[in-house]
Amino acid sequence: MSITVKNVSLPRGKSWIDNTYVIPVFKGLMLTFRHLFKRKDVLRYPEEKKVLPPNYRGLHMLTRDDQGREKCVACEMCSTACPADCIRIVAGDGGWEDSREKHPVEFEIDELRCIFCGMCVEACPEDAIDMTDMHNLADYTREDFIYNKERLLGVYDEYIKRHPDHAKRRDGVFKKMMNSSYFTVSDVEKAKHGTGH
Ligand code: SF4
Ligand code: SF4
Repeated sequence: MSITVKNVSLPRGKSWIDNTYVIPVFKGLMLTFRHLFKRKDVLRYPEEKKVLPPNYRGLHMLTRDDQGREKCVACEMCSTACPADCIRIVAGDGGWEDSREKHPVEFEIDELRCIFCGMCVEACPEDAIDMTDMHNLADYTREDFIYNKERLLGVYDEYIKRHPDHAKRRDGVFKKMMNSSYFTVSDVEKAKHGTGH
């Protein structure tokens, strides 16, 4: 069997100056230099927080009415609509003096299963469940990502401190968030112990 030998030569530039690569290196340096004076798009997180749009689909919250009671009537529309099957509700008697027949004794969302599609928010007839711009979820165990009713109400309590205009924004009156609602898990825990139904 004969072997064919192919001679390969490195591609060369058109002139000797091309072969020194001075011009491409100079062009690269000029580009770097031009960017030195452009506006920086660097966010110094966590000192600086990004302000996300009001319709951002982050961590859930269970909202309260003007008397501080959870709005949820345990109709299970949200869990029925949920494509990830990550909402669990146990309904009990309304227990209040209004016309409410039921309220959730237990309400859990598994935030690890959730795909943050927002279908639960769309399905809710009471505006009782909503989503925040919280996306920096971090915890140590899978169980920590199962948000029960108290935690979800705690998220609302913490969120509403930062965005008292929440209802107006929801109704489209304010199109922009003026500040970020970054808060920590311990903020939520504190809110949970401070208020509750
Ligand atoms: S955002 Fe989507 S996946 Fe997450 S709980 Fe709601 S309906 Fe389910
Ligand atoms: S959050 Fe809304 S849809 Fe879900 S059970 Fe409560 S009232 Fe029904």
